[in-house]
Formats: sequence, structure tokens, C-alpha cells
Amino acid sequence: MEKMEIKLRTLTPLWTGGVDQTSDRLHETGLIGSLRWWYEALVRGLEGFACDSTSENPEVRCAFDSKAYEKAKKEGQSKDEAIRAGLKTVCPVCYVFGCTGWARLFQLRAIEVPMTSLHFRTTLNMNGGWLKRVFGGEKGDIENLQVPYGELHLQFTPRRYDEEYARTQFALALRIAAEYGGLGARLQHGFGQIAYPKGLEDVSIASGHSQLKAKIQQGFLRSNGTPIETPFDLKNFVSLTYHVSSDKLKDFKEDQSHIGSSKKKQEIAYLPCVFDLRYKGEGKWGMRQWLKEKRWKESDDPKNLGEIDLLLGPRSQWRSGGKEKKIDEELRTASRVFFGMPYCKDESTYVLRVWAFLHPELRDHLSDVAALKNLCNEYIKYVLDVQPVSIVFGEQILNQTQGG
Ligand SMILES: [Zn+2]
Repeated sequence: MEKMEIKLRTLTPLWTGGVDQTSDRLHETGLIGSLRWWYEALVRGLEGFACDSTSENPEVRCAFDSKAYEKAKKEGQSKDEAIRAGLKTVCPVCYVFGCTGWARLFQLRAIEVPMTSLHFRTTLNMNGGWLKRVFGGEKGDIENLQVPYGELHLQFTPRRYDEEYARTQFALALRIAAEYGGLGARLQHGFGQIAYPKGLEDVSIASGHSQLKAKIQQGFLRSNGTPIETPFDLKNFVSLTYHVSSDKLKDFKEDQSHIGSSKKKQEIAYLPCVFDLRYKGEGKWGMRQWLKEKRWKESDDPKNLGEIDLLLGPRSQWRSGGKEKKIDEELRTASRVFFGMPYCKDESTYVLRVWAFLHPELRDHLSDVAALKNLCNEYIKYVLDVQPVSIVFGEQILNQTQGG
């Protein structure tokens, strides 16, 4: 297969980050990392083994077994057989995305990436200050930060091995991100709502699945290891989509809600107001606030997570009893509930996506994913008074099979 150009239309800006933690250009690694994350959740959901690629422990991470490969070659086996011998210690995720000794099955390169100025919208000054510090560092200067937004031209190049599989699995991960979640980093701030590219339309979730399942069933890839405790498994997942009339979001269209480059003051194609939706804003806004009113508990102990923290991620620091408290580094986790930035569907309607993973430790509160769905729904009903236009559970995504 030749190189393939992919035109990716973003509906909200992307955050791809990089070593310097800025997003002033597109960092391909940020997109690939995000696709890998979705693919891990998918493989776990399909009962395949996905290693913990972020682990410090090399025993936990996969690595191509080059000794087994050399041995097989010495014994006169074919190159393909020898490769398969080496792949016994490579899980289905690392097979596509690479690990020590095994290169990723594809390269992704940014060819043309339009950028726009970063800005946010919030109803509370305090939130504005916080967002400026998080994104603009010590100086809190976000005026000049740029983020990818618009039609991105990417180039997909398969490595010369299992090329068609590389394409379908890349498309599969991208499709799940586009249709049910988001792509890139800092998804908890609503970045990364994208439209699935037309050029990959031929790969359906069902066809991608069957190829992945077939690969797992062939049995030459790593199929077990230390179980990983993570809520990020599609079996724990639900995605909700709402159509919200524009006037219900008017708090976020007012000039005083705007922070960042003044060039974006008039921007209404998307509303970067997720901090208020997820945390707290003026009046009713804020899921964290709402949960507290419902007597969900947040932790006051830097070494423990409360129920709210397990759902929305812990606060990084807070004041309690006149003291500054900071969450234990090891307990820092991202939210398991994500809101996309609302983006325009037409003149009078915005699309809002909420998606979430159920943390097993929340079972006392939320018996199953349906209960998590109800909780998200109840909150959106409370702040926006709308019902979802679509609800998709991870199980439904996992059950999309060919001919089914
Ligand atoms: Zn692996």
C-alpha cells in the first residue's frame, strides 16, 4: 500500500501536546498516543490482553522476543514464522502501535495543519485564572498560544508488514474516537471533537473488529500478563450526545466569559466552556458542584480519593482548615467523565457530547454503566434541560460485528 493522505476535520480544537507541553504545532505522537489509548480500551473490551505501556516495569510492558526470532531463523524456519515466534511476547495493542524491538505498523505525519488562537469561556473569574495558569504556565499567558483547528492534512504510511491490517486498525481506533469520544490529549477540557474522515469510510467498526478478533484468535500474539486495574475498558463505557439550543448556552457567549486572544471573542462555532460544565461555574453550572449538593463526597485527605474524585479526578490542590493541601502525586488521575466542547450543528443548535467510563470502585454508588449513564443524564437535564439524541454503550460498540 502506498502512502495515504487523510483529511481530518476538527469540530473543536485539538490538543496534541509535546515534551514542552505546548501545542503550538501538531505533535503526531499526541494523536498516536490517544489512538493507542482507545485501542487499548477496545482490546480489553474484547477480552484480549493489552499491556500497560506506561508502566516503569519492563516485565509488564511488551517487548519483541528477538532471541526467539533468531532461534527460529537458525532452525531454518521462514522469516514469517520467525517473526511470529518473536511476537509471542507482543500484545495485540503493541502489535499495531509498537513496543521495544517492534516498530509501529504505520507512520503518521502532519502535512498541513491550520492553527487558531487558544481561548476559553467561563462564568467565573477564578476559573479563568486557573485555566490561564494550567495552559499558560507561571505567567498565565495564553494570549499567544495556538492550537490545531480546521481541516488537517495527515499522511498515513504503513510499514511494509501487514499493511491492510495497519490501515483498518488505525481507522477503527480513529472511528471510535470520532464517533463516541474525542482525539488527542487534554480530552477532559473538551479538546478533540472530530469528524471521521470520508477517505476511511470503507472501514466500519464491524469490519475492523472482525479483523482484530481474527488476529487475536490466530494465537501468535501475547494473550496474558499481570491484569491491569483500569476503568478504561469499553465494557465500562457510555457515550451520550445532546442537541442543545443556542440560547441555553448564552452565558458562554457573553464577552465577559471570554479569556485568551481577543481575536477569538466572536468565535461561536465552538464554545470552550468545559471547565464550567465539569467543575463549577456561576449558578447551576458544574457537575462537581452538583454532585456535592447531592452529597457525594470529595476527599479532604491528600492520600485518599473520595467518590467524586474517582469519578471526576481529584482536585490538584485546595485549602482546608486554613491549610494548603495537595493531592498525593500517585493519586493524580484524569477524570473518567468527559465533556466535549459544544460545537455548532446549525445556527440555533449546538452538539454536546458526554462520555464516561465507570470506575469499578464506584460500584456502591453506581451499580453498572446504565447507572453512570443516568447520572450524566440527570446532570445535563438539570443544567440544560435536554434529553440525549443518542446513547451508546461500550457493549453496543463491542457487539458490532459483521453481518450482525
Ligand atoms: Zn503490549
